[in-house]
Amino acid sequence: PAPGDKPDVIVVGGGIGGLSSAFALAREGLRVRVLERAPEFGEVGAGIQIAPNCTRILDEYGLLDEAKELGVLPESMVMRDALDSSELTRLDLRDLERRYGFPYMVIHRSDLHGIFLRACQRAGVELLTDQTVIDYEHTDGGARILLANGGTEEAPVIIAADGLHSVARRKLVGDDVVSSDYVAYRAAVPIDKVRDNGIAEEDVTVYVGPRCHFVQYALRGGDMFNQVAVFESPKAVAGKDDWGTPDELDAAFAATCDTVRKGIPLMWRDRWWQMLDRNPIETWVHGRIALLGDAAHPPLQYMAQGAIMAIEDGWVFARHVARQATARGGAPDWDAVLASYEAVRVEHCRRVQSTARAWGELWHLDGEKRLQRNGIMRERNARDYGFTDWVYGPTALAPDEEPPMFTPIPLSSARLEDLEEMDVQ
Ligand code: FAD
Repeated sequence: PAPGDKPDVIVVGGGIGGLSSAFALAREGLRVRVLERAPEFGEVGAGIQIAPNCTRILDEYGLLDEAKELGVLPESMVMRDALDSSELTRLDLRDLERRYGFPYMVIHRSDLHGIFLRACQRAGVELLTDQTVIDYEHTDGGARILLANGGTEEAPVIIAADGLHSVARRKLVGDDVVSSDYVAYRAAVPIDKVRDNGIAEEDVTVYVGPRCHFVQYALRGGDMFNQVAVFESPKAVAGKDDWGTPDELDAAFAATCDTVRKGIPLMWRDRWWQMLDRNPIETWVHGRIALLGDAAHPPLQYMAQGAIMAIEDGWVFARHVARQATARGGAPDWDAVLASYEAVRVEHCRRVQSTARAWGELWHLDGEKRLQRNGIMRERNARDYGFTDWVYGPTALAPDEEPPMFTPIPLSSARLEDLEEMDVQ
């Protein structure tokens, strides 16, 4: 669009959700303007896992080859006990790729973000930084936003992709974030620094332990190694404000196996992420303002689906634009698009959010329950995909395409009863 042209859609927030949605909509011939608060577009953090329900969309966008060049395709996803390091269960990711048709990939967050940023630039998305949105209003036939610099912007549709602490969510829903009392530390280091730690370079490894877990995988063509250390903060449990500090990190992993303990000193200690989510809500669309990504459905990250759900949101949104548009270049029926988007995405994301909470419970068990869990996981058939089919299969465009949800844990349904007895809900 030429500068000054009125946009069809304003996207607030230039994270992975905002940029991927902006690109998806620009592909449908819409004029899209992205307003980002930060002085530059970018992503903080290290690696991100992208499952086949995301690489399928990247492929459709023509971006999968670029992602493959920047990312790594691990061989297996292996779950181990964090105390004794024994293997509990594994997924063969080559087999998984055959099943779903698209790969399971790990990639640096800034690389994935950069892929969408460049795609937006090529597609003519208007990308504006230093734009802090402070309020939203409904207008006749659209919506308006107010900026911290005193400016206003209007469009027929506004997508609020402004993340976990969304201003739009505060205004339109008004709920609070929910603290899990867990905190994450991250690090991406040159792989040479960890070669002697007993790592498996070709796998994604998750060590699950009492009130803690630890994730490892290689990044950037195998040159870097990503680690995420997650644990329950005693200070958070005690209701203190300043929680999740580095002293707590060291204490939380003191009893874990060698490979995990050797990884802990490499974690970045100047920044940590308190693990917050929100309760699922049923209404994401208010007039012509739609919540998207973490603003709509921030999960605990244990399913590694947060950014993927945001990317799926944008894909679904754009597919409904394509379906509803009277003709290419003609105005879509926005109310129908927004209703279709909400109808399918709310329930899917509710399932992921609640499953992520259940996974956290399961991973962090202690004592007898830990041993019971380990026993059940060891018995899991490595080719049982019941627990991934509803997530990694094609993204549904309508509620009747949404696959049935299987168990919230990687077990056969018969075993679910055992876990219910274990209070893992
Ligand atoms: P954000 O990334 O938060 O982007 C929001 C953007 O909006 C930001 O750029 C922000 O600057 C901007 N903004 C905010 N407020 C305003 C405002 N008022 N005005 C203008 N702009 C504004 N997901 C996965 O899929 N796979 C994983 O493996 C994975 N691992 C994770 C590991 C950890 C430790 C954590 C914490 C999360 C993980 N996630 C993962 C989740 C994922 O990071 C998020 O779900 C995802 O980044 C959300 O993207 P988003 O664009 O919705 O929000």
